[in-house]
Amino acid sequence: MATSKKKLIIANWKMNPTSRKEAEQLFDKVTRGVKGVKNVEVVFCPPFVYLALAKQALNVKLGGQNCYFEQKGTYTGEVSPVMLKEVGCKYVIVGHSERKKYFGETDEIINKKVKAALKAGLDVVLCIGEDSRDSFDTRGHWTRELDPVLKDQIRGALAGVSKSQVERIVVVYEPVWAIGSGKTNAGDAATPDDVFSAKIFIKKTIGDMYDRKTADKIRVLYGGSTDSKNAEGFIRDGQADGLLVGGSSLKADEFVKMVKSI
Ligand code: PEP
Repeated sequence: MATSKKKLIIANWKMNPTSRKEAEQLFDKVTRGVKGVKNVEVVFCPPFVYLALAKQALNVKLGGQNCYFEQKGTYTGEVSPVMLKEVGCKYVIVGHSERKKYFGETDEIINKKVKAALKAGLDVVLCIGEDSRDSFDTRGHWTRELDPVLKDQIRGALAGVSKSQVERIVVVYEPVWAIGSGKTNAGDAATPDDVFSAKIFIKKTIGDMYDRKTADKIRVLYGGSTDSKNAEGFIRDGQADGLLVGGSSLKADEFVKMVKSI
C-alpha cells in the first residue's frame, strides 16, 4: 500500500467567511503559520470569489470546492474547471456530500465533473462515504456491508477515466455521519481503524479496476470532524495520506496546529 511521502491537508472553507477581510486574514495567518513546513502540502479551497485573493506561496496550493462539467458556455452561475485552472488552482473537490444533499448531484454528474476536471488539467479530490453509521457493527467498527456502497461510488465516479488520468485522483473517505457540518467536533469522527479499513478497501477497488501499481499511487485521505487533537492519529494509525478539513480550517491557529501535528 505505497503512499506519497508528503501529506496533503486540504482546507474546505465551504461557504465561509462572509467578508473579504476575514478571508484575507485567514489566508495570511495560515500561510505564515505553515511556512517552513516541508512534509505537508497545504491546499486552500475557499469560495470561488476569494480564490484570486490568495497569494501564491510555496507549500500552499489552491483548489476549487466544485466545478461544472462543461468547459465554457451558456451555463449561468456555473464555474468551469478551465477557469479554476486559469486562476491558479491545482485541485478541485468533486462529489462532496453537501453537493449531493443540497444540489442533487448524482453519480453520473460526479463522473462528468471528474472527467471535465481532469481534462482541464486539475487534480481531483473525490469524496466518497456512506450516509449512516448503521452499517457499522455493534461495536461501531467497519463491516463488509460498507464495501458495496463505497465500491459503487468509486466505480461510478471513475467510469471512463484512463489509467494515466486516474493517478491525478485523490480519494477522500468522508463518511457523511462524521462530518461536523462546519462546527468543529460537532460530528462524531471515525476511528483511525475505520480509516485504515477504508483505505485498504479503496486501494483494492482501484487495483481491481486498473492494476495494483496504479492503486499504489493514489492518495487516500480522511475527512470528518478532524482537529488538532485527532489529526495525527488518522495519519499515523489510520495510515491516511492526508485530511480534508471543514470546520477546523476556519480557525487559523487550530488549522496550523493540525498541519504541524503530523
Ligand atoms: C467536510 O465537510 O469536508 C468536512 C470534513 O467537514 P468537518 O471537518 O467540519 O467535519
